[in-house]
Amino acid sequence: MPIRAAVMTAPGAPLEIRTLDDPDIEPGGVLLETIASEVCGTDVHLHHGRLAGVPYPIVPGHVSVGRIVEVRGVERDALGEPLAAGDVVTFLDVHEVCNACYHCLVARQPNRCPSRKVYGITYSANEGPLGGWSERIYLKPGVRILKLTEGLDVDDVIGGGCGLFTGFAAVDRAGVRLGDTVLVQGAGPVGLAAAAFAGLAGASRVLMIGAPEARLVLSERLGVDQRWDLDATSEEERAAAVRELTGGRGADVVIEAAGSPSAIGEGLRLARDGGTYVVAGHYTDVGEVAFNPHTELNRKHLDVRGQWGTDFHHLVRALRVLARHRERLPFRDVIGARYALEDANQALADVEALRVTKAVIAPTR
Ligand SMILES: [Zn+2]
Ligand SMILES: [Zn+2]
Repeated sequence: MPIRAAVMTAPGAPLEIRTLDDPDIEPGGVLLETIASEVCGTDVHLHHGRLAGVPYPIVPGHVSVGRIVEVRGVERDALGEPLAAGDVVTFLDVHEVCNACYHCLVARQPNRCPSRKVYGITYSANEGPLGGWSERIYLKPGVRILKLTEGLDVDDVIGGGCGLFTGFAAVDRAGVRLGDTVLVQGAGPVGLAAAAFAGLAGASRVLMIGAPEARLVLSERLGVDQRWDLDATSEEERAAAVRELTGGRGADVVIEAAGSPSAIGEGLRLARDGGTYVVAGHYTDVGEVAFNPHTELNRKHLDVRGQWGTDFHHLVRALRVLARHRERLPFRDVIGARYALEDANQALADVEALRVTKAVIAPTR
């Protein structure tokens, strides 16, 4: 049966509906019927050609949930749960990490493995339905599949999407300690998830700078104690307010999820001396920024860390926390709209214009 997919043929070109061949299921392969796939800020950036090495045409959609329609010789998911046709699953978009290179074996940073491939980003549409904006998704042998077990709702998982895992990874990377004041820059899916996980990690106070107002209102439900609308306040006002809340020191931890170069200087300044700054919002290249290495880094004794993508353990642990704390992580409510494959261009436009916080492609609804 041919498979319909929304294909991003080149940066700047409108997406097209194309028909892909039904893949041959290799031993160890799994075919999913797509239930939902997210539209993430990265997809907007891919459409602008902001990530190097993307083999257009691609089928976008890196975080997806689907129902197994065919499985060849795979009996269990990545954590040993029995797997069969009809099960609803998600999977780690990162694949083909080699476990043999310097990054994998010595540095133990498999997210920098040069062999690393990512569904919806680094596979060509000519290789098959290897992205979620497609009626079906082919999971190659070795893809880390996770069955959505009890407590995990499809809408919570896809409403969180990759922002859920990236936000989790950023909090993990920051080493948030019980009682910390955590400031999150950015009120998109990554920022909202980071704020929620920071609260669950024991932050005594979670602050947020972002826009638009609709997202900030949502942030309250995810545990943000105090927020500033980026468009309605000046950097000076925000700095004064953060200093006032922190005895003049600044936040113990600042997490950048804004994806804008201008956020970086402010983030460096709003972290306290000896604090930690995690940059997680610059997955794609949005430009450069100048800062003063004396006052904002060296003398400040600041710990600055980048978080590049996510790893399997982030996925597993984030979903465990989600299953346990559904009421504090209401990501189903972050879904602003659902789109058919034909409306993928509209979905991208709506995400880019911040008209919806989380857009979801539902190819088979
Ligand atoms: Zn994403
Ligand atoms: Zn490797």
